[in-house]
Amino acid sequence: MCFFDQHRFACGDWKWGHFRQHCNREYRTGETCGMKLIMTTVPVGQKCKLCEKIDTKQRRRTAEVERINRWRREGSKFSASIDRSYEIVRSLDAEIYELGCERQRRLQSI
Ligand SMILES: [Zn+2]
Repeated sequence: MCFFDQHRFACGDWKWGHFRQHCNREYRTGETCGMKLIMTTVPVGQKCKLCEKIDTKQRRRTAEVERINRWRREGSKFSASIDRSYEIVRSLDAEIYELGCERQRRLQSI
């Protein structure tokens, strides 16, 4: 069991940071044993890369939905634009879902 820092992000996710200290078992070989223990938790003021990506896509999606609502109030003249926007929202949904799955996978693999 070797000691590492833990970086904790504002979103609650975390990742391993710097290696700090060997355990007795692996001290002589100079290698880490693969069992990681937390030495100190370092708070990180921002969200992790993945959550930031999700946020960005969420904002994009919200803006797109607002556009659709605005166009709908204008009647039928924007129907082509509305269709295109719906496509964008759909693909953003898929991407957000994928990122969410990736986040789950990452949480399980640490
Ligand atoms: Zn996160």
